[in-house]
Amino acid sequence: MSKAFEKDFQVAVIGGGVCGLACAAALQKAGISVQVFEAAVPFAEIGAGIGLGPSGVHSLNAMDLLDAVLQNINSNDLGSRGFLFHSGLGEHELVYDYPPAPEDASISMHRAAFLNALVELVDPQNTHFNKRCTSISESPTDPKRLLVHFIDGNTHETDVVLGADGIKSAVRHFVVAKADEPPRHNLAFSNTVAYRGLIPYAQLEAAGFKTRLTDRPVCFLGPSKHIIVVPIKNGELINVAAFSARYDIPTGSHNLPEGAPWVDQVSREDIQKDFDGWGVDVATLFRFMPEKTMRWSVHLVYPSLENYSKGHVAPLGDAAHGMLPHLGAGAGQGLEDALLLVRLLSHPETQTENLQSVLEAYSTTRRPRAQMVWEASHRAGSVYDHHGPHGPTAIGMAQDLRDLWKPIWRYEVDNDIDTAISVLRTNATFSQ
Ligand SMILES: Cc1cc2nc3c(=O)[nH]c(=O)nc-3n(C[C@H](O)[C@H](O)[C@H](O)COP(=O)(O)OP(=O)(O)OC[C@H]3O[C@@H](n4cnc5c(N)ncnc54)[C@H](O)[C@@H]3O)c2cc1C
Repeated sequence: MSKAFEKDFQVAVIGGGVCGLACAAALQKAGISVQVFEAAVPFAEIGAGIGLGPSGVHSLNAMDLLDAVLQNINSNDLGSRGFLFHSGLGEHELVYDYPPAPEDASISMHRAAFLNALVELVDPQNTHFNKRCTSISESPTDPKRLLVHFIDGNTHETDVVLGADGIKSAVRHFVVAKADEPPRHNLAFSNTVAYRGLIPYAQLEAAGFKTRLTDRPVCFLGPSKHIIVVPIKNGELINVAAFSARYDIPTGSHNLPEGAPWVDQVSREDIQKDFDGWGVDVATLFRFMPEKTMRWSVHLVYPSLENYSKGHVAPLGDAAHGMLPHLGAGAGQGLEDALLLVRLLSHPETQTENLQSVLEAYSTTRRPRAQMVWEASHRAGSVYDHHGPHGPTAIGMAQDLRDLWKPIWRYEVDNDIDTAISVLRTNATFSQ
């Protein structure tokens, strides 16, 4: 017996990452017909961590997905830990202590565990792996419908396409394409690389590492670089992400050569050279980085998109606004997108006829917020890297650090829903 759906339209979500799976699981819960197409093979995820701030946690909860995620984490993965900022130079003086607060409850966990929790909520018959979307076109039989094209030559016809296909999004190309103009990518190298590795804490301690490491993340600040140090596995391991940026190159003016890998390996000596002259704890840290360490060339959506929708197609998450990771806000922003999309698509007055207006309301509501967070993430990196507006003194940096998180974390996500619905009432898409 075929399943009865609440709506007269079907949704295809391209990309089964953090935002795609959350969006699909919540749409399915709302009784909407949804199919997910993911380029990777199942369970290809490896090692990386994910941090979700309060607005991301709230969005998950509002989509009724939080409990499933919480079942997959350790009790100390949820909570407020604040942030400690130390100078990366000299004696590593404490520059600023962003204190933990109960209203800042965040989740920090393995990405794979997060995805496993969500994938179980989506009907396996509607989850298609090894399906890389290459492009989207109008359906040849019904111009209101869309045809999703895959690298294997197959296609899928649907009413709505949500592009959760990450920073290299194929869906974004459809949204930004302009007739008679060369293809656009809106993608740029951020002139920032991240070295990432895990170090056993016992080794650091034995080598005389002095900065006190508790369960709170620590950020070492310095000229054009910073290092985030997060104790994991009850403090047994230290997760290190060291960022090195070039401020003399304007964003978008220097991209990696076509086809160059975004992730490669460098030697421990290469990192030590990059951080030459930093304080003794930083030198100790890098003595214990793995001999071969991953280096990520961090990319951005740049220039920013003029719209987050075109017809019945809408990107979300990194596909819409891939940003610098310096506020750990990328996934949270994508979950805010997902929540609004789910609420709008499942609204009683949404139907095939008004889908375009509904997705436009998503775009006009989400774009300013996500763009603000994109810019704040940029600004955060500048402050950590001694390029903040109040300069590189401890007092200047403390002043710039103090208010970085509030607008990101203390945000009433539900207001977006009211705003978008009010836009739809004002333009007569929905009744008063
Ligand atoms: C060094 C670093 C540290 C970070 N730390 C944090 C952090 O602490 N907190 C945080 O919130 N964010 C962090 N981020 C950012 C965060 O990882 C992203 O914002 C988040 O993963 C975006 O989720 P997404 O679902 O939009 O994209 P992704 O998680 O990238 O998922 C995209 C999915 O789409 C699939 N896909 C790609 N192309 C196609 C295609 N053509 N067809 C079908 N499927 C496709 C991919 O295989 C993938 O599964 C960090 C990023 C970096 C680089």
